[in-house]
This record gives sequence, structure tokens and C-alpha cells, in this order.
Amino acid sequence: MPHIQQLESHVADLIAAGEVVERPASVVKELVENAVDAGSSAVVVEIRRGGMGMIRVTDNGCGIAPEELPTAFLRHATSKLRTEEDLGKIGTLGFRGEALAAISAVSRVDILTRQTGTTEGAALHLEGGVPGAVEPAGAPEGTTITVRDLFYNTPARLKFMKKDAAEGAAVFAVVQRVALSHPEVSVKFLRDGKQELLTPGDGQLQSAVYAVLGRELALGFTRVKGSGEEMSVTGFVSKPACCRASRNWQFFFVNGRQVKSRLMLAALEEAYQNQKMVGRFPACVLHLEAKLSAVDVNVHPAKTEVKFGSERAVFSAVYHAVRAALEGDRTRPAAVLEPARPASVPARPPGAVPPACPPCPCPAGADRLRTPREQGNYLSEAGGTCPHSCGRKCG
Ligand code: ADP
Ligand code: MG
Repeated sequence: MPHIQQLESHVADLIAAGEVVERPASVVKELVENAVDAGSSAVVVEIRRGGMGMIRVTDNGCGIAPEELPTAFLRHATSKLRTEEDLGKIGTLGFRGEALAAISAVSRVDILTRQTGTTEGAALHLEGGVPGAVEPAGAPEGTTITVRDLFYNTPARLKFMKKDAAEGAAVFAVVQRVALSHPEVSVKFLRDGKQELLTPGDGQLQSAVYAVLGRELALGFTRVKGSGEEMSVTGFVSKPACCRASRNWQFFFVNGRQVKSRLMLAALEEAYQNQKMVGRFPACVLHLEAKLSAVDVNVHPAKTEVKFGSERAVFSAVYHAVRAALEGDRTRPAAVLEPARPASVPARPPGAVPPACPPCPCPAGADRLRTPREQGNYLSEAGGTCPHSCGRKCG
């Protein structure tokens, strides 16, 4: 065996960076989380060649003081945590002080920033983690970080990158999750110069859901609002007839953080017991808000997993909130995300050609109508077979 030696800090940095920065999507996740933590109300994410050519995140948050700019790129440098006790109640998305160090270690970075209330901005260029000089620069309030040539100095990682389209899709998925987790922030996404997403940032989850997931999916949702032991569960879940063929449309958030949670997934699916077809899965956008001390977010380098103080309490809160939403939906006359439509359809003169059947109300083409209001509006007035994909008899 060769001698045991401590690694050079440069090599140690590259190893640490590998844990945080797996692919372009992880860079975008970290940069956008920083933008949200900085109190931004608008964030723009631009990528070229799936993020391998360029990633740029622009925010209008608090900015960074010029004299602190190089410090922000050091490992374990953060403004979000001070003491051991703070680790027990983390209220920001970031806290490890590693993202900027990790990203800059494996790419070429340019940062331009101006702090709120100051007149002069600053710019800094870093190459493989090595910073140049901080230069004064004109800049709007907020921060713009541009990352180029990701993994240019780590060929082992570079060769594992997928096609640009696949990396771009992973970036888009991250941006969508951020938009769904922070409806108070307007999120814009541009891929190779083309705008693919813009959320209004009006603070309404419903608006973000509409912008991110589209009308078709949103129409199949019913609203969730429930509470458990010192926690609340809000958001949207699929009506049973509108479940999907895969779990791709399940989004879970804990205190504004996107998470993978088998516990929340199990509670969600348990609530649909005997209500949905086998092989169909509910879509959801579920936000769990709990006391900061009831959630440990420091369990994963990419911060995508959390540990709950009481798994039983979380399961029960999610299960009961979803269950109540599904039961309420059965008795509620009109669902929340229904499109506006006239309260009644005017009577048809005798002999007139029957109007075309309105679009199938359920995007999944369910075989039964979901609410009495839909029955009133759709079936009793129109004649013939629905021309839409459900093939339902109208009238
Ligand atoms: P962390 O987010 O865990 O603190 P980062 O390496 O992501 O660590 O960022 C280091 C520090 O740089 C942050 O704590 C924050 O003070 C500052 N920072 C990073 N990005 C921004 C931004 N977009 N706006 C304002 N400050 C930022
Ligand atoms: Mg961060």
C-alpha cells in the first residue's frame, strides 16, 4: 500500500464539488435557491446547450457586498448559519456554504452584483475556483451569475453527461419545481433563447400550477387544505378520475423546499385507496409547512431529502388532508380550477342543429361525469356523441 497522505486542497475541492454538482440541473438548483434566499421577487434562468454551454441565473435579490464577493466562493462560507444551534432550525434553502465553491471549482464563473441600497456594483471572474480581482461595475440591484464550460477540468464527469436535450430537460424540471415551491417569485426560463416558462409570481399557488403544469392537468386538480400536529398541508391533488399513467407529476415540498419523500408519497397514495384505477397515479403539488425544528434538512449533500421528527404525524397530516379534499370534491358542486363557463346553456330552438358537445370536462377522459354541475351543463343540453376523445354520449 502507498503512504497515507492528506489530499491537496484543490483535489479535495474537486471531490467535494462532485457531490453537489452532478449535472447542469444541480447548478441551476443551487443558483436559483440562492436567488430565493436572497429575497428575490423575479428570477430568470437561461441555458444554452442543455446548460453545458452556458447557465445564467439573474435575480433582483439583496445582492452581495463587493468586499464579500471572494468569500462567497470559499468552501463552508455562508451568511445563513452561524452556530451549531442554528443547524436545528434552518429556514433558508441553502445553509452548507458549499454551492458557489463547488460550482466554481468545476467551471468558469462570472458574477455581477449590486447590493440593495448601494450605488456601485461589482464583478468577479473565477476559473476552476481561482478568483480574479473584484472590479467595480455598473449593475442592476441583485445578482447575475453566469456559469460556462461546466466540468471542463473534470473529464471523468464530463463524459457522463447525457445529450443536451436530456440535460436541458432536467434543468427545466428543476426550474418547474422552484416555480411551484415559491409562487411569490416570478420565474422565467429561457432555453437556447426561447422562453419556455413564465410564472406570474403573484403568490397564488394556483397561478403557478397553471403556468407550470398547464391547463389540462390543472383542470383535473382539487384543492387540499388541512392541518395536523403543528403542521399544515396545502396544495392540489388529482381528482380520482383524473389520475395519470405515471408518478411524474407528483411534487412534494417541505417548508418551501422541494423534496423526495417516500413517506409523503405513501400517505398520498393511501388516501386514494379504492378510489382510483389500478395503474393510475395521482398528480399532486403538496406543500407541508412544519416547525423548523421538526424537520432535519441536513441529511443529503444536494438537500433533496429531509428527516421528520415525527413520521407518524406527517403521514397522518398528509393522509387526512388529501382524504378530506377527495371527499369534499365528491360533494362540492364545482371544483376549484374549473374553467369559467355559463351557469346554464340556453334552450335550443326546435329543429336547430345540436351544438357541438363541449370539450370533455375530464382531461383523463374519465368514464363518468364528476360533478352535478358538469352533468347539468354538458349532458342535458347537447345531442349526439361527444366528438372529443372520451367518446361519451351527450344528452
Ligand atoms: P449557502 O447558500 O449554503 O449559504 P452558497 O455557496 O450557495 O452557500 O452561497 C454562499 C453565500 O453567498 C450565501 O450564504 C449568500 O450570502 C451569498 N449568495 C450567494 N448567491 C447569492 C445571491 N444570488 N444573492 C445574494 N447573495 C448570494
Ligand atoms: Mg446556496
